[in-house]
Amino acid sequence: MGVLFDSHAHTSCLSYCCDPEITPETYRQALREHPELAGVAITNHGFATYFPLETAWAAEFMQNPGMFDRHLDFGNRRLEKHLQEVEPLLAEGIYTGFEVEMMADGRLTLDPAFRGRLDVLIGSVHFMPGFEPGSAGLQEAWWAHTERLLDSGIDVLGHPFRWLARNGRVEVTEEMIRRLVRMAKAAGVALELNSHMRIPGDVLLLRECMEAGVPVTLATDSHSLAEIADLGYPLSVVGAAGLTLAQLPVWLPRRFRLRGAAAEPAGGCCSSGYVDGGT
Ligand SMILES: [Zn+2]
Ligand SMILES: [Zn+2]
Repeated sequence: MGVLFDSHAHTSCLSYCCDPEITPETYRQALREHPELAGVAITNHGFATYFPLETAWAAEFMQNPGMFDRHLDFGNRRLEKHLQEVEPLLAEGIYTGFEVEMMADGRLTLDPAFRGRLDVLIGSVHFMPGFEPGSAGLQEAWWAHTERLLDSGIDVLGHPFRWLARNGRVEVTEEMIRRLVRMAKAAGVALELNSHMRIPGDVLLLRECMEAGVPVTLATDSHSLAEIADLGYPLSVVGAAGLTLAQLPVWLPRRFRLRGAAAEPAGGCCSSGYVDGGT
């Protein structure tokens, strides 16, 4: 056995790039239609929650964190409203979460007052202002940013090499994968197998995580209806690595593990492969 848990999914209210019809209710329905899926964490974007559309994508807040302070009430009101919509669904396999960016001063795009209500905190590199493909110092800056992000209190590093490979147009090498896994191990952070935009190297990433004992997550990163509940890609990575789901050191939210432990005599679902991911 093993547990299929989607640790990363979006809704339209707080993710501008998400299909407009996707709401928390969409995931509740999906869980009913996919009994093989044990849970879904709804993890909307920090930048889209705290900044209006016209400001969010410009990403000026990354270098000017004062903008975050000026939008704090705006974002907090939206996040509070969203959590009030999600929290009634917590008994039905829905988990709370957030996908944050780290600003220049090291703060995350989330008011820490909400941290205790979030089952999953994903940290992702979405923006590296000032860096274009071929920019001098791009790789060094990305590594420094990523290392700091890993130490910022996140549970999971989202789509680990996406920005570097797609935006930075850097080829991800085996040595880079090993280096990132060592950093995740030192920080006690899980690494994600992400379906939404696939980067070569995930099979090696998974093998290295297995060897190092670094937990992984299976993530649809759903932004569209077609992506919801489809963990086919991460499962194909697991198969290509010569592994089974039951062997994986899967990171699961604390609330899931507590619930699973309580249910174990009946369901026996929590026998192995569970890693303490912190909060
Ligand atoms: Zn992301
Ligand atoms: Zn995402």
